[in-house]
Amino acid sequence: MSSLNPVSIPPEVALNVVSPAPIADAGGAVAAPSFLKSFLNDNPYFQAGFGLMTLGVGLTAMRQGLVLGTTALRRRMLVTLEINNKDKAYEWFLAWMANQNVLQAQRRTMLTPWARSHQLSVETTVEHRKNGSSSALFKLVAGPGTHYVKYKGAWMQVKRERETRSMHLVSGTPWETVTLTTLSRDRKLFSELLSEARDLAMRGQEGKLVIHTAWGIEWRPFGLPRQKRPLQSVVLAPGVSESVERDIKSFLERRQWYADRGIPYRRGYLLHGPPGSGKTSFIQALAGSLSYDICVLNLSERGLADDKLFHLLSNAPERSFVLIEDIDAAFNKRVQTSEDGYQSSVTFSGFLNALDGVASGEERIIFMTTNHVEKLDPALIRPGRVDLMALIDDATPEQARILFDRFYGGNDSVGSNITGEVEALSRRLGDIVQEEMRDGKRISMAALQGLFIRNEARDAVATCRDFFVVRRT
Ligand code: ADP
Repeated sequence: MSSLNPVSIPPEVALNVVSPAPIADAGGAVAAPSFLKSFLNDNPYFQAGFGLMTLGVGLTAMRQGLVLGTTALRRRMLVTLEINNKDKAYEWFLAWMANQNVLQAQRRTMLTPWARSHQLSVETTVEHRKNGSSSALFKLVAGPGTHYVKYKGAWMQVKRERETRSMHLVSGTPWETVTLTTLSRDRKLFSELLSEARDLAMRGQEGKLVIHTAWGIEWRPFGLPRQKRPLQSVVLAPGVSESVERDIKSFLERRQWYADRGIPYRRGYLLHGPPGSGKTSFIQALAGSLSYDICVLNLSERGLADDKLFHLLSNAPERSFVLIEDIDAAFNKRVQTSEDGYQSSVTFSGFLNALDGVASGEERIIFMTTNHVEKLDPALIRPGRVDLMALIDDATPEQARILFDRFYGGNDSVGSNITGEVEALSRRLGDIVQEEMRDGKRISMAALQGLFIRNEARDAVATCRDFFVVRRT
């Protein structure tokens, strides 16, 4: 065997000849001077270092390539839609997401993927009623984070993000965005989804009364839209309901008339009278009959200041009444000191200023209620601030009888005997109201309603005298 035959070279010798290791070859040490080359070639640490460096560079390049590749791929294949919380569609979309959840639960199937997500948010709205009670409503919505939903067979990524460093300047709420991502070919689904969300929001409100409350300086719908109350269900003294209704309808028809004369297009109403006479119910029924919303403003609310109030009154949603209840409780004297239980930081002059507002062409309808009109400052009830005042009083004999007939004279009463008895009882009730009034005593419509809910017709009439109270005039 010849020693030149490479096959015969023992492996260890062959290794020596082939060195440096192949990985170092790629290191580019070829151009180095020969002494350096031999030094590098002989130094295993450098060889390994070059190898690693080359590997690192290669991997980085690959990774960047991959990132660029995926970005390009994403651009080509995915489409995103951004909705921010200043847009109406934002609320609609979150409500739509919440509804998807409800639908799934009703079908008793697996929950939608976002509901299984670990990031849920609760939206709580609290309503403080004027009788001191309050109620809270919770709504579970997709919280900040990433969620997935399936819509018409297409998967969508829903990313809800909250900007913590900057705030919406006026409302002081953080900016939020929802970004929807789906495959490019499904892009048309975005508009379908948004239309569905809008229709869902609109359908929920159709034929219903929406109540808004102030959140900071913004108006937001409170709770679910309510069933409208028929106007005739609020029984007022003859002519009262009609006169307010006529006034507001003629105001609504005269937008151009106001504009031509440069008069601010606004109207103020003050309904006054004892508690439980139907002031609030009437305003709600009237709003419902005109398909208006109601924005309830509580002047004693903590944190409400003159500037916020001004902004709220100038920026009520379209087609809405602003309702300010128990106006006397907020300002019964022009000068307020803290001893009179002055809680809010709204000043009387700030309130007048907000009522007068900036002269704009925007329609503004304000309803105020009070139990004590005599305590109000004349500056508040001058024309331009209050254009129409109506007394909504305790029950007259006629009102008591109409309410009684609504409760007991309906189709539920069987046979002419019962109807005859109801009629007699109704007349008796009217007489009692008349007699008590002669003695300076009155009964509120709310008290009568309570009596009728709890009792049979005969018992109601028999016990009603207990509910009359002396009213100071
Ligand atoms: P107010 O605002 O004058 O204090 P509300 O409108 O809050 O009175 O009425 C309280 C309750 O009494 C409501 O449930 C309402 O249905 C009933 N009620 C009061 N007045 C009337 C009325 N004039 N006609 C029918 N119901 C009435």
